[in-house]
Amino acid sequence: MDPILGFMGTTNISHNTNLMIAAAATTTTTSSSSSSSSGGLATNQLSRYENQKRRDWNTFGQYLRNHRPPLSLSRCSGAHVLEFLRYLDQFGKTKVHTQLCPFFGHPNPPAPCACPLRQAWGSLDALIGRLRAAFEENGGSPETNPFGARAVRLYLREVRDSQAKARGISYEKKKRKRPPPPLPPSQPTISSSPN
Ligand SMILES: [Zn+2]
Repeated sequence: MDPILGFMGTTNISHNTNLMIAAAATTTTTSSSSSSSSGGLATNQLSRYENQKRRDWNTFGQYLRNHRPPLSLSRCSGAHVLEFLRYLDQFGKTKVHTQLCPFFGHPNPPAPCACPLRQAWGSLDALIGRLRAAFEENGGSPETNPFGARAVRLYLREVRDSQAKARGISYEKKKRKRPPPPLPPSQPTISSSPN
């Protein structure tokens, strides 16, 4: 589903092989029986998050390796993270109307238009949250975490606001008059975002 998943490639499997196997086993067993117990469901969601985080981390590693000029993780800055996010936009599936489009500000346009597809703000926000955690789990210090850089926070805020305008959706108010639609499994909500 998530375009990011397509980039797993052949990355070196390191010390967390056992964890990966355990997580994979959990996923396969619990997915066959949809909801056996609440504990199993929680475990399933957790391992899904961990799996996604590992895939995102591998994707970013691959991006760094393919970067021209070559870029090492230690020299990676917030600007490079922004570059990565813009690169991901080409795989986006969210229609973001330009101001010239007649559907600008319409959450449910009645007809197709030629506006570009982008990564939805929610996807990018969750992605950055996972990469930020992965960076520190892989030995990076919080002080130098490029995913926590101010420029990245500002960029995400800008994307959120512009997409909210373009799509007529308010992300600020979380009031839900109607029951919310089921979230796609590839977009777990990240609650911990210390701003
Ligand atoms: Zn449009």
